[in-house]
Amino acid sequence: MRAVILSIGDELAAGLTVNTNASWLAQQLTAVGIRVDAHLTVGDALLPIVDAVRATLEQRPDLLLISGGLGPTDDDLTRQALADALQEPLVEDPEAVIFLERWFAQKKRVMSPSNRLQAQRPVSAVCIENTAGTAPGLRIQKEDQPAIFVMPGVPQEMKEMFTLSILPRIQTLADASDDGRIVTLVTKINTFGIGESLVGERLKDLMVRGANPSVGTTVHEGVVSVRIYATGTPADAQAMTDHVRLQVNERLGEMVFGENEETLETGLAGLLNAGRYTLATAESCTGGLLAKLLTDTPGSSGYFARGWVTYANDSKQDELGVPQALLAEHGAVSEEVARAMADGARKLARTDFALSTTGIAGPTGGTATKPVGLVYIALASAQGTWVREFNFPRERAAIRQRASHMAIALLRWRLLGHDPAW
Ligand code: ATP
Ligand code: MG
Repeated sequence: MRAVILSIGDELAAGLTVNTNASWLAQQLTAVGIRVDAHLTVGDALLPIVDAVRATLEQRPDLLLISGGLGPTDDDLTRQALADALQEPLVEDPEAVIFLERWFAQKKRVMSPSNRLQAQRPVSAVCIENTAGTAPGLRIQKEDQPAIFVMPGVPQEMKEMFTLSILPRIQTLADASDDGRIVTLVTKINTFGIGESLVGERLKDLMVRGANPSVGTTVHEGVVSVRIYATGTPADAQAMTDHVRLQVNERLGEMVFGENEETLETGLAGLLNAGRYTLATAESCTGGLLAKLLTDTPGSSGYFARGWVTYANDSKQDELGVPQALLAEHGAVSEEVARAMADGARKLARTDFALSTTGIAGPTGGTATKPVGLVYIALASAQGTWVREFNFPRERAAIRQRASHMAIALLRWRLLGHDPAW
């Protein structure tokens, strides 16, 4: 199957907003083996949108995905443009009106006449429920015409609608289309704690240029991802992907923490939930980033109890009970202080685990014995407290990011019963 993605909005056309919707949608389609032929971006103007829709329909893709311009204001023209392009009248959808009325009543807000316009649709369209906002989406599926799905521009609303209501329909369409179709499945296997070159060495025989499946690596914030591209019939592509996945898992073991959009945090969340464990953090050099990452995951209140940012020596003493003598003797950036911070946090928060970070994020403050990038991370548990020393790359943001990720990875390995790093 082939798809075209049409993004609507002046701010996108002007480059003021980066078009993350189009790249996210393209990834979703690619992941299920649908080829994206083109990305189009058009400003909030009626005729250009009508022209773009008409021209796309003439190209006869299987799918046209549109995002943006469904809002209640005068510059939201997608509904009108679609009706014009299909030469259909706009009608008001009674169910969508009820949905909007209920939404406004729930928020105790008055629905304006312009909001009511959001219930309009081209006569052959079906409204799609918006679970994250007001504007309903639209679906137009007619014989001998590409299936058209229209979503709001707000990324969260677009994503929820696509995942809940649109992707299942697209999959049905894909399954019903020609069995002999060739797809390219793209899978990302995410690892942490192993460098890209070592990954390359371990997967050398799989990473042959031009091979099918083809295997490559990318790095982002210390996470090395193995990308698998498998081209063939859906069944063949799946089988090739499964084979490579098995190999990657065998060779990289506990360094593999998830696939595609899975993060270290979501992987840890699953383990903490499964064991009903609780966690506290005591941060110095990461300044709250670790707590931020841990609480990015929905449902984190189930395990994350408390976090301290103890930046000054005083606060390490006052808040966590780190002995003054320890700070004076070893300095704030030391194995001993990292250990005392984690122990203090675990005791005070009464949690199963506590993670602490203390280090020199730079760019100043480094010395010959304690250079920029030196970070101690401790993990306190009922079985004891472990501390590890790291020397991260010498750039402030990268050091803080890497230290936070490493803290999460250390706890993850611990919960899995691996001790790869200590
Ligand atoms: P709706 O259809 O819900 O009215 P809209 O596109 O008309 O959406 P806008 O006011 O244009 O509404 O956009 C709402 C927010 O969504 C803005 O912050 C905008 O930057 C963002 N947004 C819209 N389209 C995209 C996109 N393609 N990629 C990333 N962000 C987007
Ligand atoms: Mg807009």
